[in-house]
Amino acid sequence: MEPAPPSASNPPPDDVAAESFQLGQSPPGFRSGFVALVGRPNVGKSTLLNQLVGEKVAITSPIAQTTRNRLRAILTTPQAQLVLVDTPGIHKPHHLLGERLVQSARGAIGEVDQVLLLVDGSQMAGRGDGFIVELLARTRVPVQVALNKWDQVAPDQAAELEASYHDLLAGEGERAPLAWPLHRVSALNGEGTSSLVRALASQLPEGPHLYPPDAVSDQPEQLLLAELIREQVLTHTREEVPHSVAVQIERIVDDGPRTAVLATVLVERSSQKGILIGKGGRMLREIGSGARAQMQKLIDGPVYLELFVKVVPGWRRSAARLAELGYRGDS
Ligand code: GDP
Ligand code: MG
Repeated sequence: MEPAPPSASNPPPDDVAAESFQLGQSPPGFRSGFVALVGRPNVGKSTLLNQLVGEKVAITSPIAQTTRNRLRAILTTPQAQLVLVDTPGIHKPHHLLGERLVQSARGAIGEVDQVLLLVDGSQMAGRGDGFIVELLARTRVPVQVALNKWDQVAPDQAAELEASYHDLLAGEGERAPLAWPLHRVSALNGEGTSSLVRALASQLPEGPHLYPPDAVSDQPEQLLLAELIREQVLTHTREEVPHSVAVQIERIVDDGPRTAVLATVLVERSSQKGILIGKGGRMLREIGSGARAQMQKLIDGPVYLELFVKVVPGWRRSAARLAELGYRGDS
């Protein structure tokens, strides 16, 4: 089982931080804390994390719902340290995996210092956004809203789009209007993100560094590597496969200059295994070389990757299997 992740109430153990810097070195007035990134699938949460941290820590995909695990990205500025927690999109649960995703997103909201609600600002506010706003209206932590994908908004649409989100926060008289700040941003090109970071930092409590200043993620390397493989599977296949895929890293062997990674891709049906392997193994080779390229960037050195595909019927419905793979519904 994974140990409980550090949180505002459960800071990381001293030995994680003590090596490379001293807690006492945080300058006076320094702020730090956990920020949950909340939003419907596909609004750009992972893209924003990657943009802010400047390294590939979250996988992104044009297909909704690729973020299964909560991912912490760590952003350190001279004035503050933000620990960003990526949450799976909040949506209506369809099956066991869906329910776990929702529980995990709701759990994340309870244990943070602040929430960043990300919406697709290039679309008018809709019912899905309303659902999340009402959920967040009941929390006591500060909330700020980023209107993402603003690069796709024509100047003459801007006022109307922003007004639709103002109206959503104003509510219909059943609760007090919400005075959450709205920020126009593009996670894709970075526009508006530095002022967003300043606004978020200003609302964090005063406190020391929670992680070393140069840390970008507290996810075990294994999970990041698995996510890179899963991303390639999603990029190379269509609807038949994506939602039924999980990746297990079997072994990471550090042999000299090269890192060898052995991984298994789990699918539910043998037809999916066929698709993943492809004619003469071509698909699997493409997935492997795409993943390997990303791994080499992450590890910053040569990688040898060996991929297997295994059929495990119904893994999505098997709670034990989910727990083993680290999809935790209990936190
Ligand atoms: P998530 O499900 O919320 O994590 O969304 P992703 O980060 O995976 O992004 C979903 C899709 O939206 C991807 O195709 C992204 O490239 C795209 N996207 C994300 N942010 C922006 C943005 O600011 N502008 C535009 N034009 N596209 C974006
Ligand atoms: Mg995502």
